[in-house]
Order: sequence, then C-alpha cells, then structure tokens
Amino acid sequence: MIISISLCLLISFVRSSPTASSPPLLLLISFDGFRWDYPDIYQLPNFNSLIKRGVRVKHIDNSFATVTFPSHFTMITGLFEETHGIVANIIYDPILNASATVKTMNDTKWWSQNAYSQPIWVSNQLAKDSNQRRSGAIAWPGCSTPINGHLPYRYEEFDYDRKFDTVLKRIFEWFNEPIGTRINFGATYHLEPDATGHKYGPISSEMNKTLKECDDYVGLLLKSIDDNEYLKQNLNVIITADHGMHAVNKSHQLFLEQYIDKSLCSAYGSHSLANIFVNKASDIDRLYANLSKIENYEVYKKSQIPDEYHYKSNVRIGDILIVGKIGYQIVVPGDRSSNLLGNHGYDNRAESMHPIFYGFGPAFRSNLLAEPFRNVDIYPLMSYILRLDQRNTNGSLDNVKHILVDFSQEKISPFLVIFLLISVIVMAIVYAICACRHSRKFIYAESNIEPQQYFLLNNDGGSTNNLVVSESEDEQENT
Ligand SMILES: [Zn+2]
Repeated sequence: MIISISLCLLISFVRSSPTASSPPLLLLISFDGFRWDYPDIYQLPNFNSLIKRGVRVKHIDNSFATVTFPSHFTMITGLFEETHGIVANIIYDPILNASATVKTMNDTKWWSQNAYSQPIWVSNQLAKDSNQRRSGAIAWPGCSTPINGHLPYRYEEFDYDRKFDTVLKRIFEWFNEPIGTRINFGATYHLEPDATGHKYGPISSEMNKTLKECDDYVGLLLKSIDDNEYLKQNLNVIITADHGMHAVNKSHQLFLEQYIDKSLCSAYGSHSLANIFVNKASDIDRLYANLSKIENYEVYKKSQIPDEYHYKSNVRIGDILIVGKIGYQIVVPGDRSSNLLGNHGYDNRAESMHPIFYGFGPAFRSNLLAEPFRNVDIYPLMSYILRLDQRNTNGSLDNVKHILVDFSQEKISPFLVIFLLISVIVMAIVYAICACRHSRKFIYAESNIEPQQYFLLNNDGGSTNNLVVSESEDEQENT
C-alpha cells in the first residue's frame, strides 16, 4: 500500500514538472491606474474569480514617482527610477540638453541612459536557448524603441483608438504561431481605468462602467486561455498596474510660476510633482526657501530627497523636487489649470497609490491572497518563471517566493522525492528479505517431517512395487 502511494506521488511529480525542452510561457498585462482596492469596491466577477485559479497580492508597493512611464519601465527592468533614468512622464536631461514627453519619448537615448537597463522581453530573447524564445509587446511604454540596441521580436505601438479586445486577440495569435515563430513572452498595456480615473475620479459611476469593461476583458482573456489546451496547460499570466488613483479637486492647485522666477530655472512635471532645474547653483537656496513655505507641498533639495524614494542619483532629477501632498496638485509654468478629478504621482507609501497584482498559471500557487511586494520585484519574478538567469537588479526573488508553487508545499520538493524514492527501495528490500525468510520457513517445515518409513510386503516375488507405508512406530518396531 505504502509503496503504491509513494509511486503515485512520484509519477504525479514527474508529470507536473515542466519539460526542459521548451521555454515557459508568460503574459504580462498592465491596466493603467488600476487601484489595488477596485475589485473590493466594485462588482468585478472575473477579477474576483482569479484568486481561485491563482494568486491575488493585496497590493504592489510601487516606486516613486507613481506615474506611468517610470513605473512601467521599473516593472520590466527591476530597476528604480533613479537607476533606469525614466524619472517622469516629462523629462529634462541636462546632458542631452533636451526634454521629452510621453508622446515624444520614442528615441533610444531616453530609454538607454543606463547601459544596464534591460527589459524582460530582451532578457528572454538573450537567454541560452534563445533560438526557442521570442518576445512580443503591444503598447507597453518603450516597447517600440530600441533599448540598448534591442527590440522585442514582435511589437506594436500604442494606438489610442484600438480596443483592448483586439490587443488580446493579437497577442494570442503570436502565442499560437508555429514553433519557429511563436512568442513565449508577451506584454500588453491598456490605458484604462487611468483615463476615467483622471476625468471622473476613482469613485464614480463612470469608473463603474469602465471597470466593467476591464472585467469583461479579463473574462475574454480567461475564455481564450481555457479554449486552447496548449495555453491552458502552459500559460502563466500576470495582471498588474503602474499606480493607483486619488480624488482631487480644483481648489487644491498650486500655480508654480507664482513662486519661481522663470529666468532662473525651469520646471518639468505632471500635476502631482515637478523637477526644477536651476540655472545657477547659487540660486538654489533662495528658490528652495521660497517654495518650502508653501503649505501642503513637500519641497526637497536634491540631496535631501528621502532615501526611501530611490529618486536622487540621476541627472534627470532636478536640483529641487516639489511633490504635492496627497490630493494637492501643481501647475508648472506653461501648463494649463487642472480640471482633473483624480490624480496619482504622489508619495508611493500612500495607500491610494498602490496598484493591483494577480498571477495565475502553472508557476503560481492557487487560492492565495498574498502579502505585498515591490514593483522592482516583478522583474525577478518574471525571470524565474521564464527560467532565466537572475540579473542583479533592485528587486529580489526572495520577496516573491511566497506566491510560487516551486517554493510552497503544494509541490513535492526534491527532498521529498528523494525520501520517497529511498522509502520505496528500503521497503522493497525489506519485503524481499521477509519473502525469502517465509520461503525458507516452508523448506524447513518440509525437512522437519519425519521421513516416512516403508516396509516390504512379505511376498515371495520381492517386488519393489509392493511397498506400503508403515501404520505406526509400534508397528514399525514390531516388524
Ligand atoms: Zn499610469
């Protein structure tokens, strides 16, 4: 019985182990601005069904600044913003003496400031078994720009008018191509619910409608997977976001030009923070003194920016950083007054800035509500799932092990396999010894039988066929 159970466990372990011959499959999806608690506030049955088939992480501890392009580049490189250099949606680089917005940041110089920045789609394609690996990305920030000389195998630029169901359809086509051309890693981006959050606020009937659409996209995603046996068995999926969203109003706006002299400095930023570059270092203290008097705004000289922001060591970060307290907005010179009802970009420790995270597929544990980890940890997580060598990043695989099957008791550990194997061998040996002893006992039993004694009938012929067993010892003795 025990041998049978052990063998069954061994067989099931061997069957569930991924084959070493083909690369793992992973699809990364980002819903821009999907706050961590939307699935608890709104009715989102498909999102809420994900926990049964995988993992929901309570939230992601995202990096500062909590804005779109920086956060998306952090997710796919595992690097803080000060490390990879995409420090805002509007960047000024004093070395390049140039600036860029999300619409113009399509030159490799913006994404390749750090030679170490390597998106996961490139890491996947540079792996040892690269002939079997291809990456595809649609609309992910930076995916259509060569980064340190590399592009994904397939990519399509962001298209505002493109519905997300067509994006999903295309990425599944890429996963389903013939072996020689199909991708094993895909990344897609959807601009909602961020756009609705900005326009109508995080708690609104319009947000309810938009989230219902996002939920329908998840339903379509699940159906597309479940209808395809190859993907159903092999595809890992991560659904996450770059940041959350917080309600704001017009009365909490700072017009920066009222506090700075535009001839002495320039300011670049969104409605929640601004990097201020001062022409002469000797003017920094005076400007700082002016700005630091403003209530409800945090103002830092570059050297004083909190270490926990990991937002200091880069030439693209200004001499002075100004950040609104949660809900307070900034209008930089030349920008229009904000009509937004929702915003992000604030302190990354604020609860409303945190995004969602779900993971499901063969690599993930199931039925698990897991503790948070950082967005820099998503890269090492994806590296592990894709069986890539772990690069040195600002993230850590140790922070995400709790959501992976390989590090849980759901999967039989190699030590247990060895233990079971030894148990089977030992039990087989014990069984053999016992059987042998049992067999020898029969031999001994036979040999203990008193030899039957025969006597020859008293016949004249002396025939040897004429033998009968003696009736008793007495009878024998009497003979
Ligand atoms: Zn965003």
